[in-house]
Amino acid sequence: MNLLVTGAAGFIGSTYVRTLLAGEAGEASDAPRITVLDKLTYAGTLDNLELDHPRLEFVQGDIRDAELVDKLMAEADQVVHFAAESHVDRSIAGADDFVLTNVVGTQTLLDAALRHEVGTFVHISTDEVYGSIEEGSWPEEHPLRPSSPYSASKASSDLLALAYHRTHGLDVRVTRCSNNYGPHQFPEKVIPLFITNLLDGKNVPLYGEGLNVRDWLHVEDHCQGVELVRTRGRAGEVYNIGGGTELSNKQLTGLLLEACGADWDRVDHVTDRKGHDLRYSVDCTKIREELGYRPRHDFAAGLADTVAWYRDNRAWWEPLKRRAAQQVTS
Ligand code: NAD
Repeated sequence: MNLLVTGAAGFIGSTYVRTLLAGEAGEASDAPRITVLDKLTYAGTLDNLELDHPRLEFVQGDIRDAELVDKLMAEADQVVHFAAESHVDRSIAGADDFVLTNVVGTQTLLDAALRHEVGTFVHISTDEVYGSIEEGSWPEEHPLRPSSPYSASKASSDLLALAYHRTHGLDVRVTRCSNNYGPHQFPEKVIPLFITNLLDGKNVPLYGEGLNVRDWLHVEDHCQGVELVRTRGRAGEVYNIGGGTELSNKQLTGLLLEACGADWDRVDHVTDRKGHDLRYSVDCTKIREELGYRPRHDFAAGLADTVAWYRDNRAWWEPLKRRAAQQVTS
């Protein structure tokens, strides 16, 4: 079985690939050969991948490169599509790359998958496509109301992917997860940004009053959910994947300060993000009842392990942070 995984030099995709190569995903008999296609944008690094693994091939390239995608798709039996521009703040600063990668790139992959009669195409999406919800949780059939250019580009790609199922019968499955945390996350999203700033003795920026609420999902639990959907899910279906720990950003900040031995005087209250959704929450009944999904990571332990990982792996994140700072100032 040849599995094409896009965007796996990034945070979640690389965790998924490591899990599959280690045979920890629960389907030990199904040991696919994996081809990773990744452009290596600022968010991707080869340090995330075990490049000398005999079942892994890495190809640097853009998912919008139709010729390259066509060649790789000809050899693929299945696809798991993680590649995306993934940071909301960057999409507010400029949405071009979000539309090009998340929408046009996804369509390029879908077209090639159709041409080569690829078996299963798992499209990785986000809970942000549903928009903000004050109470309760969104089920999969809820209409999409994305707020940011990022979530709008993800919603567009979800709808395209589902259209390829309805129109052409392509076996597309869509997952929509909540906020991931864990090792190997580029230090621009809140958890790794705050941890690395605190470890460096710097302050952390908290948006507004810190009242925005997110559900936190350990990246390995997310990968378990993706693997269940790939191996046992149904064509044309959407599956929500959540972690079960809801926290306001203020509560999360308190936990991170405590874990890093710092006080509230290290927090800068900064102007809130434009159009900041107050709360996301996904109803995970479907994946739980249909596929037996259960998140295994306790949040307190998962967060402590994540802090320890960043403390022990400065060689991984310091160059990334330096490179990002140079790009901002140049
Ligand atoms: P990431 O930013 O860490 O990694 C994205 C990867 O995609 C990088 O390796 C990058 O080089 C690659 N990439 C970007 N543009 C590309 C292109 N044009 N061609 C080929 N490769 C390209 O992202 P992540 O956090 O690992 O997210 C993975 C997926 O999960 C994304 O689709 C994202 O929308 C979704 N998601 C993430 C979260 C989260 O909490 N991180 C939550 C919900 C959904």
